[in-house]
Amino acid sequence: MKSSGDGVLIIGGGAAGCAAAAELSRHGIPSTIVEASERLGGLAGSHCCKSTDRCERCDACAPIDVRREVLNSANVTVLTSSRVFAAEEDGAGLLVRISRPEGVAEMRFDSVIVAIGATPFDPALDSRLGHGSVPGVLSSLEVDRAVREGSFHIPDGSSLAVVLCVGSRDVVRGAPYCSKACCKYAYHLTRHLQSANDGLAVTFFYMDWRPLDGDLSALCRWGMAGTRTVRSRPAEIVERDGRPVVRYADPMECLREDAFDMVMLAVGMLPPRDNEELAAILGVPLDDLGFFLPDNGRVLAAGCCTGPKDIDESVKEGIAAAGRAMAIMEGP
Ligand code: SF4
Ligand code: SF4
Repeated sequence: MKSSGDGVLIIGGGAAGCAAAAELSRHGIPSTIVEASERLGGLAGSHCCKSTDRCERCDACAPIDVRREVLNSANVTVLTSSRVFAAEEDGAGLLVRISRPEGVAEMRFDSVIVAIGATPFDPALDSRLGHGSVPGVLSSLEVDRAVREGSFHIPDGSSLAVVLCVGSRDVVRGAPYCSKACCKYAYHLTRHLQSANDGLAVTFFYMDWRPLDGDLSALCRWGMAGTRTVRSRPAEIVERDGRPVVRYADPMECLREDAFDMVMLAVGMLPPRDNEELAAILGVPLDDLGFFLPDNGRVLAAGCCTGPKDIDESVKEGIAAAGRAMAIMEGP
């Protein structure tokens, strides 16, 4: 396999980007990861382990595994705190200019894999849900971070409401689509919280249920195990006596109010913040929602920047993009 320059450029060092670099390295293909932040791993690379008394297969360790493989590979060059700011196709490859803390680097690549992830929905954009104004209302990412940092404390016997589809399936305040991963993520995180906090009473508000790995009965079994499940999208969350109160219509369309000690908002995914700027630099179109197309000549894309997905699917897309990049190097 011949390279006209420095192999494959990977923009974004999260789960998909690292998986692509690791796969290329296994085939002896050089790649360069350009990561805007100071470290590899992306958002998923900093999620907490959601084990209970056993591994729950939440996949949070997958980005850590591929990051380790990348950092130990002589075939992968990692440029952190760096950004691509210009690219030009010249028939034989792409001439790319990269802004680095030390200055500007110019490199030639056979293809590019864009893997810049997605942007989590900011729940403060839906003011009805009380994030930032009602005590005890946290996003799922804030809960995850608190667990990871060891600062998540809730008294034994507390009550927790989990609200799904925050920022998703919402044409007015968020995105019109299902974010695909947040049911699974919230389910695993909540099970972890239940296993670590005695007597935690959970109420799970859902309007739809994206099954875990095709397991349609998981929510049903969970309800039987003592967790309350309510098929409803809450209308608002207000404060009463210092506690969050969830207002919702039950399945019989009766208006109800329940008070909790804590509410966790399971936030969805929006297109990546830098999507338009990077698409313009690379000269590729975005889809109608603002996500990258997976295959566009020498510019490939993988992971959540092509649409919302979970960690496992992101890793698989990264590996698939590496395969397409190798096909480009082989030529017609
Ligand atoms: S991070 Fe998830 S997959 Fe990894 S050990 Fe913990 S529960 Fe299992
Ligand atoms: S994955 Fe679940 S929580 Fe997320 S948008 Fe889809 S149905 Fe709602």
